Amino acid sequence: MKNFAYSRADTVEGAVNLFSQHAHSKFLGGGTNLVDLMRENIEQPDALIDVTRLSPAGIPDAGIAELAGGGLSIAAAVRNSAVANHHLVRQRYPVLSQAILFGASGQIRNMATTGGNLMQRTRCYYFYDEAARCNKRRPGSGCDAIGGFNRMHAILGASEHCIATHPSDMCVALAALDAMVHVEGAGGKRTIPMNEFYRLPGDTPHLETNLKPDELIVAIHLPALTFAKNSRYRKVRDRASYAFALVSVAAALQIEDGTIRNVRLALGGVAHKPWRAYTAEQTLAGAKAGRDTFERAAGAELSEARGYGYNDFKIELAKRAIVGTLSELAEAGGTR
Ligand code: SF4
Repeated sequence: MKNFAYSRADTVEGAVNLFSQHAHSKFLGGGTNLVDLMRENIEQPDALIDVTRLSPAGIPDAGIAELAGGGLSIAAAVRNSAVANHHLVRQRYPVLSQAILFGASGQIRNMATTGGNLMQRTRCYYFYDEAARCNKRRPGSGCDAIGGFNRMHAILGASEHCIATHPSDMCVALAALDAMVHVEGAGGKRTIPMNEFYRLPGDTPHLETNLKPDELIVAIHLPALTFAKNSRYRKVRDRASYAFALVSVAAALQIEDGTIRNVRLALGGVAHKPWRAYTAEQTLAGAKAGRDTFERAAGAELSEARGYGYNDFKIELAKRAIVGTLSELAEAGGTR
């Protein structure tokens, strides 16, 4: 492993100052995944800034707190297992609790933080193989996943430069719930909607988020969404535990007198970012609840999907996962 400068930040302001000093660095990362990448020599940062021991007194909303109006604030340093098991998360946003519990192992969830989860990087095999061509690791070098073994790769929003998928389960639920990412940097504080936090690959797949180099994620806010108590996360993967999603669905549904009054839908494992299914939501809103409607919505959402050979199956799988999840929600309590 290459030598790097290590600094520890004790306050958010201190962290931002340290980030500013290293704002020229090519990579902005975080999370337990960064350690994996450093061990594999895929990332060789010049500087590592430790934010794991920020003074709780210096962190806005240092834990999980209710917001005025019924929403919830989750500080960036809160461990994934604490979020998944929090009684208000389980009551109001079961989709978020389920998504986290479907991710990684108990040991990892006990170490991983909310902010770190957002910053984890793709698990594309070629990204981790120094012998492979990868535009994300080395811009302009090519993409060996296109034409290669691409079973886990994207079917929506990909480009000729990168077909990687985002690995997080938690972030798919956050996308469905319209979460807001609160950040602080040298230019002050700002809020980024979860669905604008990540970028599609385009011709710059090495740029994954809209976070600036000097910005630190300090909290995630969930809006009040009363119907989200009828929500769930479905994850389809190659084995029952410790595997990334081939396709996942985060959904919340409210039905009134047989008509869909409210719906939120996002997909995981299909794109460079958690994929909010706006097209499907438009098809569903105000329509008669039922399998035919769910199939029509899934078909509309996947109409632009494209497979790359080994992952062609994901298109049909995603449609079935959407229909199955919405059908379960309709049976479980979508009707008021
Ligand atoms: Fe690299 Fe993206 Fe291609 Fe994977 S899909 S090899 S991450 S450029």
